[in-house]
Amino acid sequence: MKEKEKMSLTVKVLLGMALGITVGLVINLGGLNAAGGFINEYIVNGLFHVVGKMFINALKMLVVPLVFFSLICGVCGIGDIRMLGRVGGKAFALYMMTTAIAIATAIAIAATLGIGKGMNQVTNAAFTGKDAPPLTQVFIDIIPKNPINAMANGDMLPIIFFAILVGVSLLLVGSKAKTFVEGAEIANEVMMKMVNIIMAVAPYAVFALIAKAVANLGLDLLASLAGYVLVLVGSLMVHLFITLMLVLKIFSGLSPSIFLKKIRNVQVFAFSTASSNATIPVTMRTVSERFGVNNSVASFTVPFGATINMDGTAIMQGVATVFIANVYNVDLGIAGYLTVILMSVLASIGTAGVPGVGLIMLSMVFTQVGLPVEGIGLVLGVDRLMDMIRTAVNVSGDAVVSTVVAKSEGKIDISVYNDMDAGMLDTDEATHIHSAVEAEMAEAVQATHSK
Ligand code: ASP
Repeated sequence: MKEKEKMSLTVKVLLGMALGITVGLVINLGGLNAAGGFINEYIVNGLFHVVGKMFINALKMLVVPLVFFSLICGVCGIGDIRMLGRVGGKAFALYMMTTAIAIATAIAIAATLGIGKGMNQVTNAAFTGKDAPPLTQVFIDIIPKNPINAMANGDMLPIIFFAILVGVSLLLVGSKAKTFVEGAEIANEVMMKMVNIIMAVAPYAVFALIAKAVANLGLDLLASLAGYVLVLVGSLMVHLFITLMLVLKIFSGLSPSIFLKKIRNVQVFAFSTASSNATIPVTMRTVSERFGVNNSVASFTVPFGATINMDGTAIMQGVATVFIANVYNVDLGIAGYLTVILMSVLASIGTAGVPGVGLIMLSMVFTQVGLPVEGIGLVLGVDRLMDMIRTAVNVSGDAVVSTVVAKSEGKIDISVYNDMDAGMLDTDEATHIHSAVEAEMAEAVQATHSK
């Protein structure tokens, strides 16, 4: 019975997703989403919108305190502070390497298939590019002028920097700071409990998010852009199932099939929110509790990856570049494509994992290689769906690199990784408050008052 209950969250989330797709399709294809209509007003943009947004807010609410406290605990619990530099170096190298491979593969596949050739579609959706921040500024901004401000804005790199600095300073202060570290440890545990509570309602939220997204998708556009969509989705799958799994197997020796099964939940969250950042709490929980990666590694590699690692996004950029170059009959040549690879990898460092950011990066790439930025208008209509799929690939890359780095540092519990049930969320347990605990807490509070 217990087993069955434990199973139910993953199953429920997948069911929510399937049901969301079905309901969304019925609304979309049945023409029920006409503007001003009851379904569009009250269901899609009413109920689904509200439930979905509330859930995304709830996830985002957890990100900053979770990253902050778990990084402090990670740094203090590392045991050997030199490891910090090694973990950072390895993670950075692997993140950049996988992103470069991702986009190179995508360009190779798209160029070989010649997508977009002979298509003389004129773009009607106007797209005006926004700039991604220049690299120099990205480096400057790693150091926050005001850490509270960075936290308020959810700027991940400066938060990571500040939290590591707090951790290192606590170590320098030594035993006097022990109470603070213990407090951070408790705060971290509290945040993890919050993740469990939010995840317990995920099936319903996932349903709402996906039903709304599918209901609003320009599905008719899918057919006219079939070449682009198929090559993009194909390249994303090649990267997820072949490249990333090879990286996992070669660098860590761990089983790809276990990885793929356990990562499913994270992928569904990424797919429904289209944001690696909002998925951080779920990625972090899965990597540490289901894969057995020690918090000293996961607390750093996961938020770091959500910010700088975007394999799926890079793949989209590769495929879109080839597609639009072909549509506009521009020959980019080897040098042009190498620039695209370099620009995409660099752009991914400075842009956060939020919905639609890939398009901003793409406009930066286009400007660099001299492709018309308004060409992006051609792929705009299908981008929401593509964003959902590529975000699922982005977070899978974060988890692979976290696992590989942890393995190389001996900071992974292999028995947890290999145990299919490890860290499985029992929703009843996650949300049940024991009456003994309630009484104990009440007593503690009263005792403090009467002091
Ligand atoms: N939505 C993606 C992410 O959060 C970024 C993008 O491709 O737009 O990872």
